[in-house]
Parts: sequence; C-alpha cells; structure tokens
Amino acid sequence: MNKVIMHIDMDAFFASVEVRDNPPLKGKPTAVVGANERTVLVSPSYEARSFGVRTGMTKTAAKKLCPLIKFIVADSKKYTSACREIIKILYTFTPYIEVYSIDEFFIDVTNSHHLFGTPEQTAIMIKDAIKNKLGLPCTIGISYNKLLAKIASDNNKPDGLFTIEEENRDSVIGPLDVASVWGIGPSTSKKLHNMGIRTLGDLRKVSYNFLHGRFGAYGGLLYNMSRGIGDDEVVTPDKEERAKSIGHSMTFKEDTRDINVLKVYLLELSRKVAERLRRENLTGRCVALTVRYKSFQTFTRQKSIDAFINTTGRIHKLACDILKSIDLKEPVRLLGVSVSILRQSDYKGFLFKEEEKKHKLDAVLDEISSMYGDEAITFASLAKVKKHKRIISPAWRPSGTRNY
Ligand SMILES: [Mg+2]
Repeated sequence: MNKVIMHIDMDAFFASVEVRDNPPLKGKPTAVVGANERTVLVSPSYEARSFGVRTGMTKTAAKKLCPLIKFIVADSKKYTSACREIIKILYTFTPYIEVYSIDEFFIDVTNSHHLFGTPEQTAIMIKDAIKNKLGLPCTIGISYNKLLAKIASDNNKPDGLFTIEEENRDSVIGPLDVASVWGIGPSTSKKLHNMGIRTLGDLRKVSYNFLHGRFGAYGGLLYNMSRGIGDDEVVTPDKEERAKSIGHSMTFKEDTRDINVLKVYLLELSRKVAERLRRENLTGRCVALTVRYKSFQTFTRQKSIDAFINTTGRIHKLACDILKSIDLKEPVRLLGVSVSILRQSDYKGFLFKEEEKKHKLDAVLDEISSMYGDEAITFASLAKVKKHKRIISPAWRPSGTRNY
C-alpha cells in the first residue's frame, strides 16, 4: 500500500517569526540578517522576495533591489523555540516525524490520517493548528514518498497545500529544472545541463545504463528520481544516524590575511567544535578548514590523522597546520572548522598526563559555558576577539525531539 507522507515547510520561517512578534512589519519587505555588519541575508520575507531579494544576498545588494527593506537581527532562541512548538503540534497528528531542518518536517500519516479525515483535510488541520497556536504560515506537500512530498510543497508556496498522486505526477515533475530538485546538487545539475538534460522530463528519456555509466550508483538514483521514485521512510529521531560532521564558521568584522589573527579565530572555532563533539560524546579523525575570500571564492582543505580526537588543542593545531599550508591569495572573509569521520568516544583514561590535563581543562570549560553561556569563559587570546551574535544554522535540529 502507498504511504501518505507530508512535507511541512514553514514559509520564510525566521522572517515570519519576527513579523509575528512585531506586527507593524506585517506586509512590509523585511529580512532577517546576522548581527555582524557583513553577514548575508538569512531569511527574506515574501514581500522582500517579490523585489528579487534572495537568501544569501548581502545587505547592500538587497537594499539596491528594495530600498525600503527592513533588516532584523536574527534571534536564534526564538526560532528554536518555535521549532519545538511546531514539533509538539505535529505529534498530535502522528508519532512519525522527521525533523529535516529547523523549518522543514516530513511526517508519515498513513495510519493516522483516518482519525482526521482525508490527507488534505488532515493537512488543513495541521496548517490551521500551526497558524492559530503559533501565528506562523506554512506550506504542506502531500504524496507517497518524501521526494514527491517535497516537490509538492515547493510547487505551491507560500501558505499552500498541494498533492502529487500517480495521476498528476508526470505532468508536475516533468517540467522541473533538474537544478531545482531536492537531491540534485549544483555540480550534477551542471553536468546534466551540459549533456542537454534540463528537466526531469529530459532525464526520464535517458537510459539507466547511460546514467549508471556516467554517475555510478548515483546515476541509478537519478533514473528513479526522474520517475518520481523515492524513499518513503520518515526517519524519527530515535532512528536517526549520528551527524556525519560537526562544524562552525564565522564571518569577520573585517577581512584579514594576518595569520596570527586568523589563528585566534581558529581557536574560537575549534573550541566550539570540540565542545559540541564532547557534548555528543563523539570523536573524529578528519579536520577540515573552509576559507572564504573577500571575493566570496570559497574552498575547503582537510587533513586526516590516525587518532580520534575531540580536544580543542588538537583540533586547533590541525586547523592551523592546514591554514599554514595555504598560500592566501586574498584577505579572508570567513573561516570554518569542522570535524568528520566520527565515532563514539571511548574515553578510558589517557596514556600521558599532559593529555589527561587537557581533557580535564576542556571538561571544566564545557561545564562553565553550559551553565553561564558561551562568553563566560574563554582562552586569554580570545578575550580580544570581538564577539558577534551568532545566527543559527538552518541545519539546526533540536536534540531529543522524542521527549516533546
Ligand atoms: Mg522554509
């Protein structure tokens, strides 16, 4: 039997939360931005989007398109708490919820929608509940797998509801540009475009063998996607795999190529990454450094070692080693540090006293910052670094969603 899967996508989520809490902004072009003067737009309202304003633009570019746009500084706490409230509402409809990101959820209502009516009636009740209780608009896509449910919600934003069934499937997905389809990234889209394959309809005309020869196993997936075949398993938090990498990044107040300044920023980033690894009881053996130049050119270099690590000191050392190996061509605008190839930490004591001391120091720092906040304690060299209020990453997910 086909499943009934819904994709719930909050409309301009951060901006909608801000407008809700600040009614005079209603109907006006607004955008949520970072506190840092030089970050980009995180969430423009639909009014701003109608001027061509998009996520990822600089404030200057947005102002050019839409001189009256109002910028609001992001307040991550508000968004995470709204996300938790949405999850609570969804749990009143089904226990099968996948928190895909802070503002997107897949739910499986195959066995529960009968309690509320048809799938469409159920979706309307969900939309109403979220709007009435939280004052936030969303769009819901309904279908029998996650790919089609996601395409359905994208098809009718904002404040929409759309269903893809076998009958309308091909006419809805056929004309979609492959670049706009969830699961087909920019580099694959470019390759497909170069082969003259622009839409899912074009992709559907290509043979399995050709795609497999060109893209390997992923080619098989593309073959299926063009036919609307996709995964229908909603991954509830208890079944979720552990994060594949843990990282933080920051944009600086001023571009710099001063290696000593960059090293200080790396210490702050390494501390954040190490702290999260330890909080989740993880260690990793690959450290990656992302550099964004003044011109926005961005690249990542990584380094793997044999040992699994999660101390600030060791992550920082590797990040600095990578930085030293790069010949900086331009002043740097942003740095990011991440750790991957993760596994559960099996701390059983240390061979060396020095190592144990570091571990204890990290544990104490973690505890203090969890009690008093990030800025309560830090390394002396970081005290000089001007702190920016951080925006939450869209990939943020609440931990322990099961408990709500
Ligand atoms: Mg959204």
